[in-house]
Amino acid sequence: MSDPSTADQPPRRMTWQKRAIHDAVVDRHDHPTAQDLHKELLHQGIGLATVYRNLAHLVKEGHIQAVSHEGEIRYDCNTDQHAHASCTVCGTLWDIPLPESVEQTSSEILSVEHVTLTLHGVCRNCTA
Ligand SMILES: [Zn+2]
Ligand SMILES: [Zn+2]
Repeated sequence: MSDPSTADQPPRRMTWQKRAIHDAVVDRHDHPTAQDLHKELLHQGIGLATVYRNLAHLVKEGHIQAVSHEGEIRYDCNTDQHAHASCTVCGTLWDIPLPESVEQTSSEILSVEHVTLTLHGVCRNCTA
């Protein structure tokens, strides 16, 4: 007996649009916005409303994460708990591991469900 509702399973029953959007997020690790994904999927005839609707489903189903960053929603193929580092010049967003102290300092919250942590600074490329 297998449990079809497990979030880690590869998504099976998807429309081709949803699968294309899913694959577009998973293929890139630069935290694209819905507009970025739409640009990439435009040649397949997928409209922006379809991109938004399917991204919302994919987030709800746990296949991807939505990250709020400087007033924008960026989509993240990394569904593990992690922190981000962001360059204030070029806007690049990287995944970084969560500091261990997050778990140790959360005495107010018994079980941490979600952490939002972003380090802001100037990256190596932009300093050069
Ligand atoms: Zn930079
Ligand atoms: Zn991330």
